[in-house]
Order: sequence, then structure tokens, then C-alpha cells
Amino acid sequence: MSSRDWVYERFSEFYKSPRYEFPSPASFSQREYGFLLFKERAMVRHKGFASSTALRSFVRQRIPSDVYHSCAYYENPEAEMDKKGWAGADLVFDIDADHIPTSCGKIHDEWKCSNPDCGVSGGMVGRGITPDMCPACGGVKFETKTWACEQCIDTTRVETRNLLDMLMADFGFSEHEIRTFFSGHRGYHIHVESEAVRSLDAVARKEIVDYVTGIGIDLFEEKKRAPHRSRQKKASTPTFSLGDYGWKRRLKRGMRSFLQTASKEDLKAIGIKQGGASAIVKNKETILNRCIDENRWNIVRGVGYETWMRIAEHVKNREISQIDTVVTSDVHRLIRANGTLHGKTGLLKVEFPVKELDTFDPFVGAVAFKGGNTRVSIWDAPEFKLSGETFGPYKNQQVTLPTAAAVLLILKGRAELAEVQS
Ligand SMILES: [Zn+2]
Ligand SMILES: [Zn+2]
Repeated sequence: MSSRDWVYERFSEFYKSPRYEFPSPASFSQREYGFLLFKERAMVRHKGFASSTALRSFVRQRIPSDVYHSCAYYENPEAEMDKKGWAGADLVFDIDADHIPTSCGKIHDEWKCSNPDCGVSGGMVGRGITPDMCPACGGVKFETKTWACEQCIDTTRVETRNLLDMLMADFGFSEHEIRTFFSGHRGYHIHVESEAVRSLDAVARKEIVDYVTGIGIDLFEEKKRAPHRSRQKKASTPTFSLGDYGWKRRLKRGMRSFLQTASKEDLKAIGIKQGGASAIVKNKETILNRCIDENRWNIVRGVGYETWMRIAEHVKNREISQIDTVVTSDVHRLIRANGTLHGKTGLLKVEFPVKELDTFDPFVGAVAFKGGNTRVSIWDAPEFKLSGETFGPYKNQQVTLPTAAAVLLILKGRAELAEVQS
């Protein structure tokens, strides 16, 4: 039996278990469903189901490696795209370590250009985030080898926390309109299921994307107005006013917390000159109380326009949420279905309460396969945790592992079955 057939059987057992229930999204019968079939490795789209029972029996029959549904609601989910009758969509966010530079990604993620005529023999290889285009040949197809570690999850959790804060404090959504999920791989999905967002078109969703990612914030408009040298003293000092709502609040809070603890080195690291850094550290109380709280920006000698702009820019970058921008603005997007297995990990996409973002451990809560052991031959795998147990690192060795760990390593291309299973 091949390793992939063995994993297929585990997926099959999971979905066929009498205990398995499909958690249904809102307005279930108006969703388009899509499936990546395990054996055929082909995508089946434009499926609709009248009930979750019908969906469950389809899944049990076909055993997909991945199950998706539309963020949109349609009059006819099974019709062709332009005949479906779009009736609105949830507002969906995807925060994935695939799109966020992490220091661990440089260690555990690899890509290789698939172009047989790539300028580099055998195809150019690199580490970290897969580029859009091969630097050697311009090719756009890559083979990738990725890993999901705790640091990846920690990074995406910070971005998710920023996003949730904006959705609740700035947009005014309540906790029960927002659903939070672990994606099943290395990130989070946030779904806003509210009447208020359903009818937003792609342009409106792009506006939300810009807000969340900090594009076009007009706090920087002073830059254009302030002349380098002006006879009027006031014109060369920044005039942005921090306040109590939206990005103004976010920036105020962020600048305050950054400056409260920043050392001279921290300030120099974001490009502030020696003199400015010393002045800030020396006059910290004045900076916090007069500048930030009272918007009096020119009160400390040596801390001028350039310095304030650098601080604001740095804080802005800490406050944004690095979402996958394409997912949110696409009103026809398919998104992984809650409670289904991820074909790259065998972990579940799983929902948890908004307030448990910091305490929910995906490497425990998203584990689908409980019980059983299997012997696998592992080429190489970093140390990882699953269900509270630590495994690895492994290099060219045979190990007996719990089913969930064996499935993960096989799907990640790190291991194969060591012996024939009956
Ligand atoms: Zn190439
Ligand atoms: Zn990582």
C-alpha cells in the first residue's frame, strides 16, 4: 500500500465515523461547494447541497483531500458562475504564514523553480516566502516544501489579534458576528457573518483591505504640505492629531507603548539619528504627556518632523494586519469548510471563541486522528508538537508514531510508510 493510499484510508475513516458531524455555515443551501478529490487530485466545483446530510454523504462517497465552500450566497449555487445569482457574501479574512515574512520561514520553507528551462540548472532554489516570479527565469511555477511551526502560529496570531481589534473597535462588529478559525495549516481565518457586510461589492471590500493593511492613511498628508525650509517656523513641524477612534487611536496607543519602553538602540534601529534618540530618552515624560496626549509635537528640541514620521511609520507597521488581500476582496472566493481536514497536514479547520485566540493551541485542538500508531521512514523533519507530545527532529530514520503525526509527515513529503499495513 502506498503512503498516500494509507492517508486516504485515514481520511475515509474519519469522514465515515458515525460521530462525524458537518458543522454547517449560515445559509447552508445557498453556498457553492468545491472539493479537491484525493485520488484524482482534481477539483470539483459548483456543487450545492440541500442539507448537511446530503453534503456528508457526498463527502463519504468521494473522500476529498480538501473541502471548500463559497463565502458568497447564491440563488443557484450549482449554475455557471454568471448564472448563479449572487445574493451577497460574508466578509472573510485569511492570515497565513505563506504571505508573512517570518524568521522561521527562512529555516523551514524551501522553493524550487519548476521551469525545465530555468537559467539555473535543475531549477533555481531559495528559502523563505515563495516569490511570485522566479528571479532567474521569470517562471511562475514552483515546487514548495513548507512547515508549520509554533513561531509561524505565533506570528499569524499577532496579525489576527490586530485584525480582531480593528473589526470590533473600529468597525463596531460584535463578538457574535465574528467567527475565528484555525485554518488547518499555518494561520487563521476570520469570517464576519453579518447583514451589514453581505451586500458589499469588491470595491467596498478593497477599501476594508486598505484600512486593515494601513494603505493610504492620511496621517501622512503633512508630508506633502510641509516645505523643507520655511520662513514660517510652524510649517516644518508635523501637525498630525492623534485621537480616540480609528487609526488615530491606534497610532496614539501604539506610539505611547513603543516610546514608553524604547531604548536609544530601539530608536536608532528604526532610523532615528543619535541626537533625536537621546532627546527622546531624556525627555520621555514630556514626550508622552505633552506631545502624544496633547498633540504638541514641536515641544522637545531635537525631535522634529522626520523623527515623528519615522516613529509613526514604525508604529503603523506594528498595528496593521498582514491579511491575504486577494481573499477578502474576491466576492466569489471559496474558503475551506469548517470541520474538514486540510490536505497538506491532516489537521482540521476548527472554530474557537474569539476570546480564546491567545489560549487556543491548534496543535492540540485541530488534531483529527486520535489513537493508533504507525511505523514510518522519515527523510527529515524538524522538531514538532502534536497533542501535547514533542517529536523529532528526525533525519533518515524509522520511527513508530501516533497516526496524526504520521499523516502530517507523509502529507508534508517528509516520510513514507515503513511497512505494509493490512
Ligand atoms: Zn526559474
Ligand atoms: Zn515557522
